[in-house]
Amino acid sequence: MSEATQEKTGLGNYFIANYPPFSAWKPAHLTEAHAALQRAPRPDTPLGLYLHIPFCRKRCKFCYFRVYTDKNARDVENYAAALVREVELYSKLPIVGGRPLHYVYFGGGTPSYLSAAQLRDLMGRLQAFLPWQQAAEVTFECEPGTLQRHKLEALRELGVTRLSLGVENFNPQLLEYNGRAHLEEEIYRAYGWARELGFDQINIDLIAGMVGETWDNWRTCVRKTIELNPESVTVYQMELPFNTVFSKELKAVASGQWPVASNGADAPSVSSALPLTEAVSSPATGHEPLATFSIADWPTKRAWVDYAFAEMAKAGYEVSSAYTMVKDKARTKFVYRDSLWHGADMFGCGVASFGHVQGVHVQNLDTWEQYLAALDRGELPLGRALPVTPRQLQIREMILQLKTAWLDAGYFQRKFGADILKDHAASFASLAQAGFVSVQDDGVQLTREGLLQVDRLLPAFFEPEYQGTRYT
Ligand code: SF4
Repeated sequence: MSEATQEKTGLGNYFIANYPPFSAWKPAHLTEAHAALQRAPRPDTPLGLYLHIPFCRKRCKFCYFRVYTDKNARDVENYAAALVREVELYSKLPIVGGRPLHYVYFGGGTPSYLSAAQLRDLMGRLQAFLPWQQAAEVTFECEPGTLQRHKLEALRELGVTRLSLGVENFNPQLLEYNGRAHLEEEIYRAYGWARELGFDQINIDLIAGMVGETWDNWRTCVRKTIELNPESVTVYQMELPFNTVFSKELKAVASGQWPVASNGADAPSVSSALPLTEAVSSPATGHEPLATFSIADWPTKRAWVDYAFAEMAKAGYEVSSAYTMVKDKARTKFVYRDSLWHGADMFGCGVASFGHVQGVHVQNLDTWEQYLAALDRGELPLGRALPVTPRQLQIREMILQLKTAWLDAGYFQRKFGADILKDHAASFASLAQAGFVSVQDDGVQLTREGLLQVDRLLPAFFEPEYQGTRYT
C-alpha cells in the first residue's frame, strides 16, 4: 500500500479498542467464559457495569453500532426487562465476590432516548441487583435533542455523575447531512440545564472530519466548545467502517455509479469527495447548501485534532488521552476508561455488548431476537468469547495505556513481571526513529505526532499471528 493510499480515509476501522482482535473471538470459547464467571474474583480487580441502550431517533450516516430506530414502546419495555434479567443473573455469580460496582456506563445507541419514567423504572430495578451508590462514576451518554430538564433531574437523582453529550459538531448543515438528529440550539439548551443541575462532570464529544467539514467550520466548533467550558472534551477522528450509509455511498462513487464533485476552496487535502450538495439543499432545512461535501484525509483530521488540543490547552485543558482533554487533570477522572485500560472486570449488558471477566473477553449475542430469547430462557446471552493469555493481557494494557501518551514501565514490571522496554525494544526503537515515541529509563512517552495517530501505531505490538489479520 502506498503512503498516499494509507492517508486516504478508506473503508474500514481505524480505532483499536481491545486486544486480541475481535475477529479471534469465537462461540467455541464460551465454556471458558462460563468457567471464569463461576470463579471468585482476583483480589483488587475492580468491577464495572456497561449497559447498552440500542435505540436512536435516527441512524447517523457514519454509525456502525448495533442500534434500532424502529422500536415501539413495547419493544423498549421488553428490552429493559431483559437488561434487568441479565444484571440479575450476573449479580448471583461467584465472580461478583461481594465487590461493589466501581463504575457504571450507560452507552448506546442513545440512553437518553428513554423517557424519565422509563429511566427511573429501569435504574431502580437494576440497582435492586447491583447497586451503584458506592461507584466512583456513573456515566450516561446523551443526544442533546432527547433531553428535557425533568429527564436530567431524574438522572441526577439516580446517581449519574458524568454526563456525556454527543454534540459532534455545531453546524446545522453538517449535523443534518451526517444524519444527526439534534439541532444546534438543543446543544445549548441541554448543556445549560445540565450545568444548572450540577452534574459533577460534563463531557462534550466532537468528531473531527464529519463529511463536509472545513477548517473554518472546525475552528468555530472548537471555539464554541471552549465557550461552553465543559470539564472534558473528547474528539474522535471520523472513520468509515463497513456497513454505514456513507461507506455504501463511497462504494457507489468508487464503482462509478456516482460522479465525484470538485473540491471547495476551503476543503484541505481532500482525498475523496462525494457529490452530496443536493442532499442538504432540502427546503425543509432552510439552510443554504454547502459548496462541497468532502471526506478529509487522515493528515487533515490529525491537524484538526491537533488544532483543537492546542486551542483547548490555551484555555487551560490538559491532554488526558489521544482523544480527550480535561479541565483539571487531578480532579477530572474518567474512571470507566482508566479501569478498562488497567484490566478491570466488566459485565457488558445489552445486545452485542462487550465485557471482560477474569481474563476472558466476552461479547453478547448480536441480534435483538437472539439476545431477548436467551434471557427468556433464563440464560446469560453470551455469543462469543476469547480466553486471553497473560502475555496478551499485558499487551492489551500496554496498547490501551499508550493512548494516554505515557507507559509506566514500573507498572508492567509490578503487575506482569514484564520488562516492556526490553520485550518490545525493536518496536519502540522503530517508533522512536519515526518520531512517534521517546524511550526513557522508566517508560515510554508518546510525542504529539504519535498521539494523534496512536491507533495506527498499535498493531506493531500485536503478536505475529494477529499481524495483518482482520481486526473486527
Ligand atoms: S446517535 Fe450514536 S449510536 Fe445513534 S445512530 Fe448516531 S452515532 Fe449511532
